[in-house]
Amino acid sequence: MTQPECTRRDFLVFGSVGSLLAPIVHLFPWWKAKELMLADGRFQIVREKHPKRHYILIHGDESTAREVLTKHMETHRGIAFLSESKMRNIPIDSGQVDPNRVFSRSGAAASLQKNNPNWDARKVQDALSLLDNQREHFLNTVLPHKGELLVALHNNSSTYSVNSETAISDLQSLKQPENPHAFFLCTDPGDYQILATSPYNVVLQQHVRAPDDGSLSRRAAARLARYVNLEVAEGDAPRQQEMLNWLENHLPFVA
Ligand SMILES: [Zn+2]
Repeated sequence: MTQPECTRRDFLVFGSVGSLLAPIVHLFPWWKAKELMLADGRFQIVREKHPKRHYILIHGDESTAREVLTKHMETHRGIAFLSESKMRNIPIDSGQVDPNRVFSRSGAAASLQKNNPNWDARKVQDALSLLDNQREHFLNTVLPHKGELLVALHNNSSTYSVNSETAISDLQSLKQPENPHAFFLCTDPGDYQILATSPYNVVLQQHVRAPDDGSLSRRAAARLARYVNLEVAEGDAPRQQEMLNWLENHLPFVA
């Protein structure tokens, strides 16, 4: 089903109001935000009337994942959050931060220091305070409730693959070791059991044996939320679409 066209003006008018009203928005059940703020970055919200799944494109420069998810939303009932940034990182104050490292304070601090080496301690603290104020609202909006699933679409390059994850995973099923860049990473054991019957690579990270890096998958696992990362190499849209279709056809809407 297609979405009504949202103009840039809609985003500006309702989006800025939305971020201001976020703490009291539950008082107005008829009001639906069209974007969500994280740091100084914006996420466009594409929403069906009765969404059955949640989806996110968190890294704005992963253009294959953006293309696949945008097309997918034309025919699937869900709510999608798409980074409006064209870069991997999102702006914060005069600097930048990796949006997939801000979901714990320690992960955010490490990403802020790495990406803004000229910042003094005060600037880092101010940025951490902003993220502290936004984190819960963002997570409560993006993570589904009542046993539904959040699917995060990512693209990778030569330096990252399923082989980067196997050592810290609970379980793994590598049906395509010759295609290590294409894999599912999930947090729910029930979803893992199903995904492991697919012809694709999959790892389960319910209890991660590594420091909390502030990623969305780590936060989802800690909250016992169902979450699946779908990774393929940048440019491999047919494979990402195929794997997403497999997921849609096999994973239940509600666990
Ligand atoms: Zn990514």
